Amino acid sequence: MDKNVEIKIAANAGFCFGVKRAIDLVEKTLNEKPEVYTLGPIIHNPQEVKRLKEKGVKILNDIDSVKSGCIILRTHGISLELRNRLEKDRTLYIDATCPFVKKAQDIIKNLSSQETNIIIVGENSHPEVEALVSYGAGKCVVIESPKEALEFKGTGELNIVSQTTQTPQNFNVIVEILKKRFKVNIYNTICKATLERQESAEKLAKKVDLMIVIGGKNSGNTTRLAEICKAQTETYHIETIDELDDKWFNNIKTVGLTAGASTPDNIIKSVQRRLGEILGYERNQ
Ligand code: SF4
Repeated sequence: MDKNVEIKIAANAGFCFGVKRAIDLVEKTLNEKPEVYTLGPIIHNPQEVKRLKEKGVKILNDIDSVKSGCIILRTHGISLELRNRLEKDRTLYIDATCPFVKKAQDIIKNLSSQETNIIIVGENSHPEVEALVSYGAGKCVVIESPKEALEFKGTGELNIVSQTTQTPQNFNVIVEILKKRFKVNIYNTICKATLERQESAEKLAKKVDLMIVIGGKNSGNTTRLAEICKAQTETYHIETIDELDDKWFNNIKTVGLTAGASTPDNIIKSVQRRLGEILGYERNQ
């Protein structure tokens, strides 16, 4: 192993504002209420979800089983139907929906009262997108890829909204394809934290021999960071140090590190430490 391998860290990596806010809300509620639930995992990071579970947070799949206690709503939001039920049942809940996700929901809700079509650029099966669709009163179509945009059949004007963690590249390509056949109104709701993480990951990936992207395999924003880095250099997407393989680091000079918006600092630090050990210069870290 070359002892002179350099480790560089992306300028923007790890917890974003929305995730930090959600975790702080869970920690605060744990101190105040005897029973704390989240509806689905609060964020898309299995290790952080496990840590909160060990502190007493219970994960629900539906609200029917809860008659008391406090439910915390996840960062990427819940469906309008579920929100209405929660409000009607007056079950105690705290909304940790990220304000950027809420903004996309509000745009779609406002558009839904008009005679118009709504396109959401995003992943069909992602909870954020499923919730966004519910605000559109049956008027939303989800388009995931340029291929789907080319195949889209519709009439009239299109209002195009984005899942908050899309890449601008995918969003812009889809918008350009649709613009050729339809009059479009564009609502770019990709969040700033996503943009910053994607830009700094790409910048770093261009300069290094290998990138390590840390974060949940179920995290959309981390997966897209890995895709962005893969387009530039050899890249591995890992959740924890257990997945690091010494062999990856043979014959390289520089390693880049980045992490998704839902990756806690302690996991990033543990990967840094382990990399230092593998590369044989932990005393300089
Ligand atoms: S990635 Fe953006 S939209 Fe998602 S929780 Fe973080 S700040 Fe909010």
